[in-house]
Amino acid sequence: MQPKPNIVDLPVYQPGKPIEEVKRELGLDEVIKLASNENPFGSSPKAADAIRREIEQISIYPDGAAVELTNAIAKRTGVGADQIIFGAGSDEIILMIARAYLQPGDETVMAVETFPQYKHNVTIENGVSIEVPLADGKHDLPAMLDKINEKTKIVWVCNPNNPTGTIVSDEELTAFLDQVPDRVLVVLDEAYCEYVEDPSYSDGLALLKRYPNLILLRTFSKIYGLASLRIGYGIGAPGLIRSINQVREPFNTSRFGQAAALASLNDDEFLERCRTANREGLAFLRGEFDRLGLDYFPAHGNFIMVDVKRPSLEVFDALLRKGVIIRAGQRGYPTRIRITVGSAEQNAKVAEALEAVLQEIGVQA
Ligand SMILES: *Cc1c(COP(=O)(O)O)cnc(C)c1O
Repeated sequence: MQPKPNIVDLPVYQPGKPIEEVKRELGLDEVIKLASNENPFGSSPKAADAIRREIEQISIYPDGAAVELTNAIAKRTGVGADQIIFGAGSDEIILMIARAYLQPGDETVMAVETFPQYKHNVTIENGVSIEVPLADGKHDLPAMLDKINEKTKIVWVCNPNNPTGTIVSDEELTAFLDQVPDRVLVVLDEAYCEYVEDPSYSDGLALLKRYPNLILLRTFSKIYGLASLRIGYGIGAPGLIRSINQVREPFNTSRFGQAAALASLNDDEFLERCRTANREGLAFLRGEFDRLGLDYFPAHGNFIMVDVKRPSLEVFDALLRKGVIIRAGQRGYPTRIRITVGSAEQNAKVAEALEAVLQEIGVQA
């Protein structure tokens, strides 16, 4: 049997190593994972309560349209219920967008480095990914605009960008959106928007009113701390949402995901606590990197990308042996690592481990 030729060389996603496995292999008592931008403070206690209540119903299919959660998000964001679609994480929204909009040979424009799922899903649909290098870790929107032609169907903008953590300002983004043709879909991935405190950051919801070719992606996996429940959503014009709904699997999100998301959506006290701790954690890490003489990109999410001036894979291995899992920079960033902001204790541990590792591994020119 032959799979589609375009997937033959597609890599299988390599998740970060599970903590328990690392502990066993290396004989360590304590291992911390700051590799997947998960919330170090877990999730709202309301989520666990909602899940306990939902257990009685596990034999019954979930509401495929997630009506209650849709209405709650519509209320919180001020958009219509027909402007919202849910996925098994925003990963699945990316998949559905590619599935609904791309025909073989269609082009999509994205940054490099950025979130790998855009290119991955474009490749599966036999589309073409036009990759535009970041400038100083930031989306180069004018250069991306230059790559739009009559074959372009989608432009992907990740804001803040994963893995660099940088943002494009509202001014830069609107100047870009003003020039993108209406027939081109712009996907604005705001997975970390709840963390952003910079006043130049766009209000994605306000942009939606002006640009009907825009879709926002948001998720409960990051600040809401529900990554394991796989629930994220897209917000866009009703026509767009309808097209994506047409390719959606009937029961693509679970009862637990919907119930936990609904219960935690308006727990602003939890969100504020996480945002504050994240702000403090970023300030601490920046201070440590300054002390160690390391450059880093301006970080606006719950992670920071720092130049360790040594091969990132060597630094990854050395940190792993000390019980700290981070993510090594790939292709474009061979000497950078991405660290998720953890609890104060975890941040202190990663800084201490990094200092020791930098002494073990000499600087390479
Ligand atoms: C984590 C992440 C997502 C998706 O997370 P889900 O768990 O699938 O909701 C999407 N985009 C970016 C940039 C991310 O970092």
